[in-house]
Amino acid sequence: MHPCLEKILLNEDEIVARCKELGQQITQEYKNNEQPPLLVALLKGSVPFLAELIKHIDLDIQFDFMDVSSYEGTESIGDIKIIKDLDCSVKNLDILLVEDIVDTGRTLKTVKAMLKNKGAKTVRVVTLLDKPDRRVVDIEADYTGFEIPNEFVVGFGLDFNQKYRNFPFVGVLKEECYK
Ligand code: 5GP
Repeated sequence: MHPCLEKILLNEDEIVARCKELGQQITQEYKNNEQPPLLVALLKGSVPFLAELIKHIDLDIQFDFMDVSSYEGTESIGDIKIIKDLDCSVKNLDILLVEDIVDTGRTLKTVKAMLKNKGAKTVRVVTLLDKPDRRVVDIEADYTGFEIPNEFVVGFGLDFNQKYRNFPFVGVLKEECYK
């Protein structure tokens, strides 16, 4: 195991099995829709999750990417700036927002509102991980892979200083490695 890891929280088999269940659930819930959903993935953390999830969605979906970041100042926490906007219009589309982890919920709430403002017909959210204890705004994902305790995790897209995104599992980082 990597020396910066305290433990593995979710192994690859568990993650893949859960992505399969989520993909099947999403397929069922959207299959009678007029149109398949447009998946909007937030860069960069949700890329491995998106890649696994879409294998299990049996619909003619499309996907696009957005990159957002929080403003640094304490006054503006919760506001986000767009680093990369979507390539396509979301007007009148059913959007499925793909997230790596919902923590405070601020990113999700802001991006969801942004997509609604751009004219999306519906916006639902699928997240690989959820830390419900950390929530500061009232928002929930529609589909959640795993609820996890309040620990800093890396792997399967999640990083520390842009590293460890390529781990095929989700692990807890040793405190001494990030403090
Ligand atoms: P929120 O706006 O919900 O507070 O923030 C969500 C973002 O915070 C995630 O997309 C992710 O980039 C980051 N984040 C929150 N918790 C963790 C964690 O445990 N590990 C890592 N690597 N990133 C996290």
